Amino acid sequence: MGKIIFNGEIKSRTDVKVDIEDRGYQFGDGVYEVIRVYNGELFAGDMHLNRLMDSAKLIQMKVPFTVAEIETRVKELISEDQLQEGIIYMQLTRGVSPRTHAFPTSDVEPVFVAYTKEIPYAGRLKPGAKGITTDDIRWLRCNIKSLNLLGNIMAKQVAVEAGCDEAIQHRDGLVTEGSSSNVSIVVDGTLKTHPASNLILNGITRQVMLKLCADHDIPYVEEAFTIEEMMAAEEVLYTSTSVEITPIITIDGQKIAAGAPGPVTERLQQLFADEIERQCGSVK
Ligand SMILES: *Cc1c(COP(=O)(O)O)cnc(C)c1O
Repeated sequence: MGKIIFNGEIKSRTDVKVDIEDRGYQFGDGVYEVIRVYNGELFAGDMHLNRLMDSAKLIQMKVPFTVAEIETRVKELISEDQLQEGIIYMQLTRGVSPRTHAFPTSDVEPVFVAYTKEIPYAGRLKPGAKGITTDDIRWLRCNIKSLNLLGNIMAKQVAVEAGCDEAIQHRDGLVTEGSSSNVSIVVDGTLKTHPASNLILNGITRQVMLKLCADHDIPYVEEAFTIEEMMAAEEVLYTSTSVEITPIITIDGQKIAAGAPGPVTERLQQLFADEIERQCGSVK
């Protein structure tokens, strides 16, 4: 631990200082990614790095590195830090420039930062989580993994103050996603999740899960669902790089079905664990 990628170079964390006029610091003007590392290997690394590029493009930020260059540096960082199980956090801001809302001139280079954090592998089956519904107060470009996370932070705080694990956001009763995760339900054996639109962040875990559904004949539809449908569903689950695929067994204090993880979720957790092993080797 303790190393950091700063603009393409690996440095000691204590040698890097953030400029007070970094646009990420002043405006949240930037984008980020979190990539899981299992067994010292990146899980779905290409998908995450391509999404970082897509997010940058959507905010009209020119990235001075290629996906391959970032990947090379990130792998060096994993090896320097001897990271086995954990995550890599990375962000790109629109650079350092005197404070003014409009984009800086084109000679101002984005600032790239990445570092690792150890997280033990939770095992294949995760215990059921508690959810709470809350209004989705965010902007209309939720498909960008932006550093502007105030709406998400406010939602997560609602969950924490209620002793819950995740906030389930909705717009006028239609569920969008969690504060930092995607939400799916199971109705009549079919998995249902919000379509990848401007109203959600299209999670890599969500995409991997849908591919697993397709490959293993688990029926699914990408359709928005209401809070009522969710409360009456057979199963509710949420997905992200950190929680992988985790059942939600109570929402707003009410049990979902019998209040225990359901068979579709458990099957997906098993398939996801197999996918981790396929990509990264067996996790101790
Ligand atoms: C990152 C994130 C997710 C989950 O995406 P993964 O790629 O699966 O980690 C879902 N919703 C929001 C708002 C996010 O920021």
